[in-house]
Amino acid sequence: MKLDSFTTWRLMAESQSVPLWRVVLAYEMHQKGRSEGEIWARLAQVYAVMRDAVESGLREPRQTPSGLVRDTGKKIKDASLHVISPEFSLLLAYATAAKETNACMGRVVAAPTAGASGILPGIYTFLEKHHAVPLQTIYEAMLIGAGVALIIEQKASIAGAVGGCQAETGTAAAMGAAGIVYALGGDVNQTFEAVALTIMNMLGLICDPVAGLVELPCVKRNGSAVVIAAAAAQMALAGDTAVIPVDEMVEAMGQVGAAMDPRFKETALGGTAATPTAQAIAQRIYPDVRSIRREDPPH
Ligand code: SF4
Repeated sequence: MKLDSFTTWRLMAESQSVPLWRVVLAYEMHQKGRSEGEIWARLAQVYAVMRDAVESGLREPRQTPSGLVRDTGKKIKDASLHVISPEFSLLLAYATAAKETNACMGRVVAAPTAGASGILPGIYTFLEKHHAVPLQTIYEAMLIGAGVALIIEQKASIAGAVGGCQAETGTAAAMGAAGIVYALGGDVNQTFEAVALTIMNMLGLICDPVAGLVELPCVKRNGSAVVIAAAAAQMALAGDTAVIPVDEMVEAMGQVGAAMDPRFKETALGGTAATPTAQAIAQRIYPDVRSIRREDPPH
């Protein structure tokens, strides 16, 4: 059976009486021709890079040559005023710091993409540090996240240039929300509800990087995406549901992405990138390039 829907994934797990992650593990072993031991070793390596991206982002000053990214993670970590709790602030700090590591050309895991590379490191690091989730459980959560991305990639998209930011940060948040629910003891229904709730709450988010650089709003969006992932996981773990089945939400995500105006698909022609300030920034960074602002949508 092909792992191309959440319904199929559930059926595969139920028919073999195995957890969701084991279906993805078998899929990976088959697809990549790797042994189970090799895959666990690879997951450990990947998580080590993710955690290092968070830690180096919090430890070292972060500023991109454009100046658009400047120590967001450190500022949040050092803040004395907390909206919900110090832990909530740290979740934001971890995600933005890891994404800043990417923006500053540091080493990250592009899971599912470089633009969204702070979300999963932020969530997994948070689970390990603040919920004492064992590493093995984090690796299993990573496999569940891989299953989520695999289905979304086939039925919608994980690329901002194809489906807008909902496809990048939205997919990463859905992967992370599923991982939170699994790691904290949720069942299959709750795991899939968290995915559906995340997609529902990130639907339609456009891709609009200022000056075409994957910096702004990208770092901030990695922060807001972990908040939505955490909210979705909390709702699902509380027994709330998205009402709409997760496979239908993925279909909706694909339809919204397909209908999205090209200005909102990484072209830097719309949204945040088209604001006068963003245009002035683009002119400062690329003085020889004529303004790329376009008032009328392409037909
Ligand atoms: S705005 Fe575009 S480039 Fe930035 S994270 Fe979102 S999808 Fe990626």
